[in-house]
Amino acid sequence: MKKIYTLFLFGFIVSNVFSQQVLKSPFVAAADKCGFSAEMEKNRVRGFNDAAYEAEMQRLINEFKQLNNFGPPTTIFSVPIIFHVIYDGNTESTIGTGANLTQAIVTAQIQQLNADFANLSGSGYGSATDLGVRFVAAKVDPMGNLLCEPGIVRINWRSQSGWQNPSGLSSMNAVMTHFDNVVKPQSYWDPYRYVNIWLADFSGSGLLGYATFPAMSTLPGLGNSETDQTAGVVVMSGSVGSLSNPGTASPYQYGRTLTHELGHFFGLRHITGDANCGNDYCTDTPPQNALTSGCPAPGTANGCTPSVPKMFENYMDYSNDICLNTFTLNQSESCQVVMLNSPRRKELPSSTTGVSPMLNRIFFKPGQTTVSETASGACPRYKEYPITVGVESTANGNATLSLSKTGSATEITDYTITPSSVTYTNGDATDKVFTLRIYDDAIIESAETIQLAFNISGTGVQQSIACGSANQYTITITDDDFNYSINNTMPTVTLLSENFGITTGSNQVPAGWVTSNAAGTSTTNKWVGNNTGAGTYGFSGNTLHISNGNSTAVTNGTAAMAYSSTATGTDARAVTPLLNAAGLKDISVSLKLVSNGEIDSGTFYDFGLVYYTLNGTNYSVLTVLNNDVYLQGITSSTTLNINLPAGTIGTSNLRLMFRWISDNSVANQPPFAIDDVVVTGKNVTVESQLNHAATENILSTSGSSNFYSSNDGQVIAKLSNPSVSPGCLTATITQAGNTNISLSSTAATYLRSEKVVNISPAIANTTASYNVTLYYTTAELAIWGANFANLKLMKVKNGINLGGLINSADAEVVNAVIDDQRATKGYASFSGDFTGGFSQFLLVYQTSVVPVAILNFDALSNNKNIVLNWSTSIENNNKGFFVERSIDGNQFEPISWINGKMNSNIISHYTYTDNYVEPDVIYYYRLRQKDIDNNEKLSDVRQAKIKG
Ligand SMILES: [Zn+2]
Repeated sequence: MKKIYTLFLFGFIVSNVFSQQVLKSPFVAAADKCGFSAEMEKNRVRGFNDAAYEAEMQRLINEFKQLNNFGPPTTIFSVPIIFHVIYDGNTESTIGTGANLTQAIVTAQIQQLNADFANLSGSGYGSATDLGVRFVAAKVDPMGNLLCEPGIVRINWRSQSGWQNPSGLSSMNAVMTHFDNVVKPQSYWDPYRYVNIWLADFSGSGLLGYATFPAMSTLPGLGNSETDQTAGVVVMSGSVGSLSNPGTASPYQYGRTLTHELGHFFGLRHITGDANCGNDYCTDTPPQNALTSGCPAPGTANGCTPSVPKMFENYMDYSNDICLNTFTLNQSESCQVVMLNSPRRKELPSSTTGVSPMLNRIFFKPGQTTVSETASGACPRYKEYPITVGVESTANGNATLSLSKTGSATEITDYTITPSSVTYTNGDATDKVFTLRIYDDAIIESAETIQLAFNISGTGVQQSIACGSANQYTITITDDDFNYSINNTMPTVTLLSENFGITTGSNQVPAGWVTSNAAGTSTTNKWVGNNTGAGTYGFSGNTLHISNGNSTAVTNGTAAMAYSSTATGTDARAVTPLLNAAGLKDISVSLKLVSNGEIDSGTFYDFGLVYYTLNGTNYSVLTVLNNDVYLQGITSSTTLNINLPAGTIGTSNLRLMFRWISDNSVANQPPFAIDDVVVTGKNVTVESQLNHAATENILSTSGSSNFYSSNDGQVIAKLSNPSVSPGCLTATITQAGNTNISLSSTAATYLRSEKVVNISPAIANTTASYNVTLYYTTAELAIWGANFANLKLMKVKNGINLGGLINSADAEVVNAVIDDQRATKGYASFSGDFTGGFSQFLLVYQTSVVPVAILNFDALSNNKNIVLNWSTSIENNNKGFFVERSIDGNQFEPISWINGKMNSNIISHYTYTDNYVEPDVIYYYRLRQKDIDNNEKLSDVRQAKIKG
């Protein structure tokens, strides 16, 4: 016999596979999922008589039928509903955490109720009928104050007097007693004006929910234990949801628990009549021998005489939420009669608490509140999100709405919102949608926020000053950029390698591993390490496995790889030592394992799970095989490779957990066993390959952006502290290789690195200053030998051929800050500050200085003399120039001396006039440049003559 509690336990563990969830002590006493039987027993103690009650109901139903011509309801009752959201202020103060459910999921639940009650959920039965009740979120509290979150009142149980932690309530009775005696009396809202729903996480109890049952009068046999203080429904938070916005209590996550409990609240009984083929007082629901679990095949027999297909789709059965879709005509008639006659319920349709007192109030509708800046596509990459503003009912005039924007994120660079404003006209009830665009940059930064609020001009709409949360919308942008550690020598790092060959302690578990058996009582089905049974399942040597051996066998290392089918509620966990993945990406796990167990009718009962944790407290289950989390049916040693999600990048606090869960019936061997557990992460290596490139949107004037090749993730360059936001920049390896090459400029001669990195902006930029870092492998640097320490960074303007003579004005050389990691990590980085936009970058070693660079030199006749002009672009230690003349082009003699500038890096102009020339004689001139060390250098020769 299977236990319902086991079913929904799985659901809350494994839903939202990669979200972090706190594992709570999961095993609880067996219990019904609904407290109806207990509630009715309580009523009977108070004198309630089922037969008398149902006789009165039948009398009223007969009356009702005559009035309504035997059909579906002609009146649809609209009733205000209030959800008391009970949460733990210590751990769930953030809305959306645990039991502190969002407005969105509460709204979804109301929509699911209304679809189910309106017979709009796809029933295939001809008897399926609208129940005639709809639910509207309460808009005001009992004092008439506007509810900022319609239909919701939030209660931190820790701030209430005498309230217990609901998750510590360990049985159905504990929940019902605590709620009826403590929670409800302190928190109920007028039950003549609201349907009270209490939501709490009592997942430790095995109960999904319970409802109070309607009375027909105060006459003996017709009254019950329901009071003004207790009237209403209590359901487990995780069951709240809808088909499109499910909760967490799989397979009871689609909101049908509340549909079911409200069925009780409006007088419906379980389809079984809570007996073997008992009476539910509805002739159009077939009898049933037991409440259903799971989703049986259509046509499954009811187990009664006569044997007919059971109506497991009826909301008043126990089937999984997904297969429920039916209320019948008889059930509808009971509900209608209760709505017309039963205390409290009959007052609800005239309640006005579902009507807003501020019909033109606007508010932010629920939307995404945390977004990653990760986006895809061409640079600039971005992703867009809607920001929706609703109006309570309609605008009653004209108004223009714009959004005020504050927070740590920067408009334009981090995000944009369009349009800048929207308008309302009288009677306008439409949602207004702004588009938030989040840009993907490469800056390594902390999370940033955008805080939005309303600016309203005009009176057609208004905001409720009291409703901060409805008038404000905060979006957190999380960063996806990272400084990975660079290591060319060891691209892959092994964080854990464990074959369980060396074991210690009585359980023979390796040092640093922590095992536990959360059931607490079981001496069997725990993790032990030895080789007993290993060969049977294809392992060699020791494994870490679940064993049902007694303590002696465990101590002696003979506890077999096998599990017990009689041990109650096994939850055995094995946690790895701490794994330091700081600076690493692509964390993955490889292991050999077997894990069989039990699966019945698609539901897992015995199985293995693998989790990771980043803090030792919150564990997230991993998808391990075939897009599933369950490890079951693996009966011989199988190697699994699991890639951990992106959230594990860079963590220094990683652990894995292997978990075995089994119940107390049926054991299909073997249980969970693991071997050769290897956890690896990856360093980034330095990009050396030609044409590998990365394009990043640089939208900040501070911080650092890494260029990781889009080809293979290797690092090309880093840009820090740009003076402007240059936008999209592409870093490309434009030349590659390990040698060095001569490079000449008009200022000096150099050897340059063969590898050249080009950083080009999509939009031309000639003004930006910034710090750039280039990375070179040890192989790329080997050729420099002892000159390594004298390497400098050179920037050469785009378009300049590195093989020709480079004008010194087109190149900039700066000293590099060198981070030499060659010995241990196989690379070195070179950082330097540059100005004047982006270009080609390379390493250079200066081989010689050009002392004086003569740009041009000419000799021109000028009437009766010859004028010599020359200029220099650079002068180093230049004493000056002898001007030399010849009449045969061979024999030169000095005719003058012109002082040089000594040292200059700007263009200098010189002129000399030769007045002693005769007509029609060709004169040859040259310059003999002399530096302070008396080294000399001759210029080219020029010639000129004057006419006679
Ligand atoms: Zn029930």
